[in-house]
Amino acid sequence: MAVTVTGRSGDTTFDLIVVGLGAMGAAALYQAGRRGLRVLGIDRHHPPHTLGSTHAETRITRLAVGEGPQYLPFVARSHEIWRQLEHESGEALLHQCGGLIVTEERPVPGQRWRDFVVETDRIARSAGIDFAVLDGEHDRRVPAVLRGLAGKRIGHEPSAGLVMAERAVAVQLARAAELGAIVTTGERVTAVRPDATGVEVVTERGRHRAEHVVLSAGPWLPDLIGGGDAERLRVTRQAVFWFEVDDPDRYGADEFPFVMWIGGDDAEYLGVFPILAGTTPALKVLGEQFVTDTHPDTVDRTVAAGEIADFHRRLVEPRLVGVRPTCVKAEVCLYTNTPDDHFLIDRAPDSDRITIVSPCSGHGFKHSAALGEAIVEDLSTGRSALDLSPFGRHRFETGR
Ligand SMILES: Cc1cc2nc3c(=O)[nH]c(=O)nc-3n(C[C@H](O)[C@H](O)[C@H](O)COP(=O)(O)OP(=O)(O)OC[C@H]3O[C@@H](n4cnc5c(N)ncnc54)[C@H](O)[C@@H]3O)c2cc1C
Repeated sequence: MAVTVTGRSGDTTFDLIVVGLGAMGAAALYQAGRRGLRVLGIDRHHPPHTLGSTHAETRITRLAVGEGPQYLPFVARSHEIWRQLEHESGEALLHQCGGLIVTEERPVPGQRWRDFVVETDRIARSAGIDFAVLDGEHDRRVPAVLRGLAGKRIGHEPSAGLVMAERAVAVQLARAAELGAIVTTGERVTAVRPDATGVEVVTERGRHRAEHVVLSAGPWLPDLIGGGDAERLRVTRQAVFWFEVDDPDRYGADEFPFVMWIGGDDAEYLGVFPILAGTTPALKVLGEQFVTDTHPDTVDRTVAAGEIADFHRRLVEPRLVGVRPTCVKAEVCLYTNTPDDHFLIDRAPDSDRITIVSPCSGHGFKHSAALGEAIVEDLSTGRSALDLSPFGRHRFETGR
C-alpha cells in the first residue's frame, strides 16, 4: 500500500485529527490550519480520488437552496471561501454560469424532489436571492438545445454555477499543509476510541492522539461509527456519463447554464453540466437511483454499455439536441443519504470530542467549505457563527 506523509507527526497530541479528506475533511483541515491548530489529516486513499463521493470534475452550486432555508448561509459563505481560495492559489474553482431547474407543472406527490421550482422560488424570495420562474420555454435564458419543455415549470438563478470538486479538495489540502497541517494518505483508520483525556485514533500503521476528532469518511462512515447513526445512513451507486456533442460551443459555459431536470418520478432526474475549459471535452450528465444500496468496497464500478445506452435513450435523447450516444467516459460515484435527505452533523453519542460529519445526500458539496469552517469553529470555541443544529440527530430521535 502506497503511503504519503506530508509533515511530521512524531509523538504529538494534536488539537484535531480529521479522518477522511474528501470534500468535508479537506475543508475542515484547511480551516483548522487557518486557525493555527495542530492538526493531522488521515485518508485511506490519496485524495482527490475517484472512489468516494467527490469526483467527476464538477458540482452544482445554487445560492437559492430549495432543500431548505437552513442551508442558505452555508452555500453563501462557501462561495466566499472558494473565491478566497482562488485568490490564495491562483486556480479557478467557482464558475457562476447560471442554472436552470425544470419540473413538471404538477409534481407527483411523494416524489423526492417535491415541487422544486416552487420551493426554490419561495426560499429565494424570503432571502432576497435573485431567482426567476420563467414564463415558458421561449425565454431567452432557456438554451435552444433543450427540447420537450412544453408545459414544464422552469426556474433560473443567474448566480448559480459549478464548483471544481477535485480541484477544491486539492487546493484546500495543499493550503492546509502550507499552514502547518500534517497530511497522511494511504493510511486506513480502523478504530476511534475516546477516553478521559482525549481520543485515540488507531490506523493500520499506528496510533495517534488528539483533543478532538472529525469523522468525515463519506460513504465509509457507517463502518467507523456503528450504532444508530450508521443504521440511518444509506449508500447508493450513482453513474456519471460524458457524451460527445455535435457542437461543443452550444454546451459551453458561456452559452449554457447547468440544468437540473426533475422528471415525473425519481428515476427521471437528469443533471446536465456545461462544458468548462480544462475539463473533459464532452457533455457531463447524470441521473439518480435509490433502488439498490451498496458499499464502497464492493460497489460495481464498471458502467456497462447497456447502462450507457439505456441512459442516453431514456433521458438524454428526448431532452437534449445534438448529444451523440458515444460515451467518452463514465464514472461511478456514491451518495450517502439519511432518511430525510438532510445532513447528519453532530457530536458522537458517546463522546463530545468526536464530530460525525455526513453531508453527502447528493447535495453536500456546495456547502462543504463553510461547513468545514463552522465545525472547526464549534470544536475550538464551543459555538459557530453558522447554525449547525438543524443537522443534528435529534430530529430522528424525536421523530420530527
Ligand atoms: C454523482 C454525485 C453528484 C453530486 N452532485 C452534487 C452537486 O451537484 N452539488 C452538490 O452540492 N453536491 C453534490 N453531490 C454531493 C457531494 O459531492 C458530497 O456531499 C460530498 O462530495 C461528500 O464529501 P465527503 O467528504 O463526505 O465524502 P468523500 O469525498 O467520499 O470523502 C471521504 C473520504 O474518507 C476517506 N476514508 C474513508 N474511510 C476511511 C478510513 N477508515 N480511514 C481513513 N480515511 C477514510 C475516503 O478515502 C475519502 O477520501 C454529489 C455526489 C455524487 C456522488
